[in-house]
Amino acid sequence: MSLYPAPPRTLTIAGSDSGGGAGIQADLKTFTALGTYGLSVITALTSQNTLGVDGIAAVEPEFVSKQLRAVVGDIGVDAIKIGMLHNHKVIDAVADTLTELFGGTGDPRYPSIVLDPVMISTSEHVLLDSPSLPALQQRLLPVCTLVTPNIPEAMKLSSIESINTVDDMKTAAKKISELGCKAVLIKGGHLSQPQVFDVLYERESSEFTIYEHPRIYTKNTHGTGCTQSSAIAAFIAKGKPLREAIQLATDYVQAALLSSFDIGHGSGPLNHLV
Ligand code: PLP
Repeated sequence: MSLYPAPPRTLTIAGSDSGGGAGIQADLKTFTALGTYGLSVITALTSQNTLGVDGIAAVEPEFVSKQLRAVVGDIGVDAIKIGMLHNHKVIDAVADTLTELFGGTGDPRYPSIVLDPVMISTSEHVLLDSPSLPALQQRLLPVCTLVTPNIPEAMKLSSIESINTVDDMKTAAKKISELGCKAVLIKGGHLSQPQVFDVLYERESSEFTIYEHPRIYTKNTHGTGCTQSSAIAAFIAKGKPLREAIQLATDYVQAALLSSFDIGHGSGPLNHLV
């Protein structure tokens, strides 16, 4: 009998970053820093450091499903973050196993799922092959609580050719939500203004929320998207409503970016010990 209450359980379904700055490693650091118990289902291995990705080894889809069954069957999860999925076979395996464990789309047994639709790394390595985009749209978006694309990912998901303003971001967010997810957060960091605007659209209420924060000028940004989506999942697991979870996660990422450090020879990681 333990005297310590168990913390909320957060699961990341994502790719490993051997350099420790992004992917599974960033997610688990974030989960721990925010007081949750981190679980992981690894979808791909990357050989990578601060200079970029130099190789990817796929994980067999059946083994992705096996990891998912193992953690959900025994430990259970309060919120899930999904990141790099690598290919459509892994997307199908994740979607099929989520259905097996939690039921069909809209089943109340589903935990909250935050999907970071990772496609290309900052170092321009393809992390999701483009033929897999329809599988992501059709099989995973409908079960997600929140999808968190950056601007290039939002352009792909919405088939909108240019997104240059907050109004464009609103149009794209609404269009992406029509794929069935409950909410969409488009991150505006790729636009060039000194203030960054992230746009949230919630489908049920048709409401927009704009999050504004100053741009932090540092080369050490590796893993920012991974950290933000896993922080949102952690705050949801701790019981925060979606809008507040996003604000708290954004504050966490800002603090982690402000204290990010030089390690290796390229784009260093965020600092999770803030
Ligand atoms: N490697 C893995 C395993 C990732 O999941 C991601 C992003 O999601 C990256 C690399 C890319 O990180 P960044 O674009 O921040 O360098």
